[in-house]
Amino acid sequence: MDDLKLIGLLNPIIATIFALTFIIFWFRQKDKSYILAIGLAFASLGVGFLASHFFIEKLSLTNVLFIGVLYAFATTAIISGLYRRAGLQGGIGPLLSIGLFGVALSTIAVLQFNDLNLRLYLSNATLGVLWGIGAWRLRKNARDGGLEKLILLVMLAICMQFIGLTAVTLNLSGILTPENYNGSLHWRVVNFSTAISSLVLALTLIGMCASDLLKQVTLIANQDVLTGLNTRRAFEAKTDQVMLKLDRTPLPVSLLIIDIDHFKLVNDQFGHPVGDRVIARLGGLLEMRMRVSDFAGRLGGEEFSVLLWNTDQSGARLFAEEIRSTFSTMPIDGVPDETQITVSVGFAEVQERETYDSLYNRADQALYVAKRKGRNRVAAAELNNENVGRIVKSEVA
Ligand code: GH3
Ligand code: MG
Ligand code: MG
Repeated sequence: MDDLKLIGLLNPIIATIFALTFIIFWFRQKDKSYILAIGLAFASLGVGFLASHFFIEKLSLTNVLFIGVLYAFATTAIISGLYRRAGLQGGIGPLLSIGLFGVALSTIAVLQFNDLNLRLYLSNATLGVLWGIGAWRLRKNARDGGLEKLILLVMLAICMQFIGLTAVTLNLSGILTPENYNGSLHWRVVNFSTAISSLVLALTLIGMCASDLLKQVTLIANQDVLTGLNTRRAFEAKTDQVMLKLDRTPLPVSLLIIDIDHFKLVNDQFGHPVGDRVIARLGGLLEMRMRVSDFAGRLGGEEFSVLLWNTDQSGARLFAEEIRSTFSTMPIDGVPDETQITVSVGFAEVQERETYDSLYNRADQALYVAKRKGRNRVAAAELNNENVGRIVKSEVA
């Protein structure tokens, strides 16, 4: 095997490694079909590279047809995969049709005109058109941050490479024939730029899949499945942020802890699935009644917390009372009308220099008082006079 053939083996190997990488990614998250589409695209690129290098005469008609169809399929798979990821409908039909139309035109260029330059331009430009259409349809994604911009940029670069660069190199190479094709300027530039752009494309798409996976994992860790509210972890992280903000701009902020009364009985009487529905209804009510600047979390079981921004103790009482009275009259599937499910609420307004732990404890004690006094009521926290609170940063310095 000569050196050129050995180097030619690199492209199919790299494409196969990328194909396997995407397919393994997909096995981990089978709901993301776009990852499988990209994996299959690289697999067919691998087959195409291998066939064109070892088995099929480079400038034969079989090459035009076989490789042309494979590349049209691979390009369609990647772009329609990106559409699907972005939530855009359709794409496969039109993209594949354009790709195959290009293959047909290239075939005519060979059969009818025996024009190598024309054939090379048509097959490359068709792929460029597909990338251009893809980038145009996905253009709105650019608003969603750096990675999405990079994906679009790579798509545009590939489009320009297939349409613009091919035109320039074909022009500079003069009339190409099967004899002078290998080693021509066009041949060298295209081989080099294709290797670079498929590498950049694959790495960008791997970065995209990794970032999507990370987003999903973060969402799972931060979002409660039953209610869609913050998990305890996320709620506490957000509250910490608020406490830091209060160091700089003092504002009234209050914390509520809401707990469903005798919830064990609800489960015992109506079953766990109905219990879950009750929890979800309370989550929905909090979500509906709080303002955009507030946030809520499910701290665990049937216990919730809400942070009310720019709200003092009397505002917090109003909100707590509204939640309590509304929830007690809410109809819930599976719970008979004559059964009233109620909540108790403890609330506390942040004091100067107070820590989250101190605030939470005061609200929790207030909740305990509401429970002890008979449940289905709200209770304000005692003031914390010890001021054990946090040390303001400027005092540390
Ligand atoms: P109290 O009025 O004092 O709050 O009484 P309670 O029965 O509500 O309080 P307790 O904390 O003893 O019971 C909470 C129950 O919530 C126990 C547990 O089985 C149930 N629970 C915890 N998480 C879930 C959940 O995700 N779904 C359902 N259906 N029940 C849950
Ligand atoms: Mg309870
Ligand atoms: Mg509880």
